[in-house]
Amino acid sequence: MSPKHVPLRKCIGCQTMKAKRDLIRIVATPDGAIRIDPTGKAAGRGAYLCPTVACFELALKRKALERALKRPVPAEIWDSVKRQLEGTAHG
Ligand SMILES: [Zn+2]
Repeated sequence: MSPKHVPLRKCIGCQTMKAKRDLIRIVATPDGAIRIDPTGKAAGRGAYLCPTVACFELALKRKALERALKRPVPAEIWDSVKRQLEGTAHG
């Protein structure tokens, strides 16, 4: 069974289009929170990032997440994203 249509999203770090399921979604919810969205279905403005520390640091350096979500991103959000990346990096 091969998927007919793979939804693509652009990584805010390296700016590469990738399959949505290969990226992590960070969502700015309507109530003002910013969090990682493991389901990819939470309501709100989303940004996508490759699950690598390299892309994380690119996005951080460029303030790409702030731009994508159109709001300031607190340091603890970055910390929690980074922790998740470091956790998944080991497979
Ligand atoms: Zn990337």
